Amino acid sequence: MSTLPEHRVPFVSLDRQYRSVRDELLRAMDEVGNSGIYILGDRVASFEAAIAEFCGTRFAVGVNSGADALFLSLKHYGIGAGDEVITAPNSFIATAWVIAATGARPVFTDVGDDYNIDPERVAAAVTPRTRAIIPVHLTGRPADMDPITAIARRHDLRIVEDAAQAIGARYHGRRVGALGDTGCFSLHPLKNLGVYGDGGVITTDDEAAYHSLLKWRNHGLRNRDECEFWGFNSRLDAIQAAFATVKLARLDAWNARCREIAARYREALRGLVWVPEDAPDTEGVYHNFVIRTPRRDELMAHMQRRGVDSRIHYPIPLHLQPAAADLGYREGDFPVAERQAKEIVSLPIYPELEPSEIEQVIDAVRSFF
Ligand SMILES: *Cc1c(COP(=O)(O)O)cnc(C)c1O
Repeated sequence: MSTLPEHRVPFVSLDRQYRSVRDELLRAMDEVGNSGIYILGDRVASFEAAIAEFCGTRFAVGVNSGADALFLSLKHYGIGAGDEVITAPNSFIATAWVIAATGARPVFTDVGDDYNIDPERVAAAVTPRTRAIIPVHLTGRPADMDPITAIARRHDLRIVEDAAQAIGARYHGRRVGALGDTGCFSLHPLKNLGVYGDGGVITTDDEAAYHSLLKWRNHGLRNRDECEFWGFNSRLDAIQAAFATVKLARLDAWNARCREIAARYREALRGLVWVPEDAPDTEGVYHNFVIRTPRRDELMAHMQRRGVDSRIHYPIPLHLQPAAADLGYREGDFPVAERQAKEIVSLPIYPELEPSEIEQVIDAVRSFF
């Protein structure tokens, strides 16, 4: 047996990215400090314009989190008690609670081999109460939007994209966030475009949604003194917008690096474990690189001994969460998602991974098999 590596490959290492852009971030912080404007304002507006241009939409609205981006989109479309919203059962918790928080019912449908919602099952889940679909571009790979869009058109449903993990990903030449009625992004530090606190942004081509969302995020205020409806406080801080603007300029390069690392993992691990591939004419951004093996728990323990951190995204499907008990789902309802939850493991993937660390990850997996 070879000697164990001394170096540990961390699953995330946000400080590395911070150091790579530190000078620009400090300058941005100083500019915001000197401007005297700390919530919304010009810096948020210019970030919104930059994100809209990046995604290829007409508008963007900065908000407080990815969850709020989803929640306020649903509120804008008037979704609430008595309505149903279809989504995937294998996403992060926020995808489900935002539906429940409007008073509507989360309706889950099983996913495909690629971890994304299966359009045929979506079609079968539509009822007269269905109002919207939240496709999740899980792990940074786009859901198959053409058939989902066709279903939405046929039944007059809104599409609210959960693009929290997928900023920059492309589907048939277009960026995610430009494929639904609204696109919802998280600026959480762990996401591909991460800031130094919470943040989120909504993209849209829908002018009415844009003007309404500006009010939804700001107490329902139409102007300084007049409240059009009871809204929320979900504004983006100027400082986070300034940081996000600095990082947006690097995002394509960072995403390209993650795609290179994904290609290297794929080439080295294909055949040993299930590896994620890009669907034809799509480009994922590999927020996570999620492999599958029936020996997942043993593999994770082995990787840990070989100095490589790994995680599970996510071990408990949404329909089996304690919070979902009153929805009446049971184990066995979504066999694909449930089986995947037992077999998935995410490998470290971020632009600052050193080549030697990438090889250490590969060796850790290969030596197990
Ligand atoms: C991170 C995430 C969210 C929520 O984003 P926050 O900014 O943490 O609120 C929603 N959906 C998915 C798929 C996510 O990964």
